[in-house]
Amino acid sequence: MVRRVELEGLRDALTSAPIDARRELARCGDCLVFYHADSVAALAADHGGRCVGCGSRDIAPARVVDD
Ligand SMILES: [Zn+2]
Repeated sequence: MVRRVELEGLRDALTSAPIDARRELARCGDCLVFYHADSVAALAADHGGRCVGCGSRDIAPARVVDD
């Protein structure tokens, strides 16, 4: 889980788009970068499902919670 305020100023590690907490998100379990769900799909198609930051396959859905 990730708090909504923690997402402010962060960017999708693949597209560099500002993270939109209203969208479905995923996070790398190793280097902790965030991705939108469509970026995760793109990683699966083009990068063997690996994180562009660290090469890990440990990318899991991240649930956003309010304080
Ligand atoms: Zn990573």
